[in-house]
Amino acid sequence: MMVTHTIRIGTGYDVHRLVEGRKLILGGVEIPFEKGVLGHSDGDALTHAICDALLGAAALGDIGQHFPDTDSQYAGANSLIFLEAICKKLALAGFRVGNVDVTIVLQKPKLAPHIQQMRLNLAQTMNCDLEQVSVKATTTEGLGFTGTGEGVAVQAVALIVPDGH
Ligand code: MG
Repeated sequence: MMVTHTIRIGTGYDVHRLVEGRKLILGGVEIPFEKGVLGHSDGDALTHAICDALLGAAALGDIGQHFPDTDSQYAGANSLIFLEAICKKLALAGFRVGNVDVTIVLQKPKLAPHIQQMRLNLAQTMNCDLEQVSVKATTTEGLGFTGTGEGVAVQAVALIVPDGH
């Protein structure tokens, strides 16, 4: 498939349930908390949303197509591996990451102390500079499934640019 080689944009969205007995991993950072993300992989909704934004920008499908949750080799997988593989697919298609911006929607715990490490992990995985990766967090003031602590939602947008630009 030939994708038009201009600057392209994509969005990603992911939700994972929060449960006891799982680790809370976001952007490859393990955050101390009483609950964690349920998922076939490590459940890193932040990384998954970025994966989908990048794939969307290149019109290359979604994370579920590339890494099916029915495939046992991805059970408990570090999601940064998915992101790294997707960046390689983008490079093969002639693109590199322009910038990524994400919003994590989570009531608790406070994420501010962990944001910088998330950015570092993501930038390193995508082989880009820290300044190309923005991670923000917000609550929904107690409203909805994020507000009650039932789940975490992440929204991402990504710009990809033709390689060599
Ligand atoms: Mg997911």
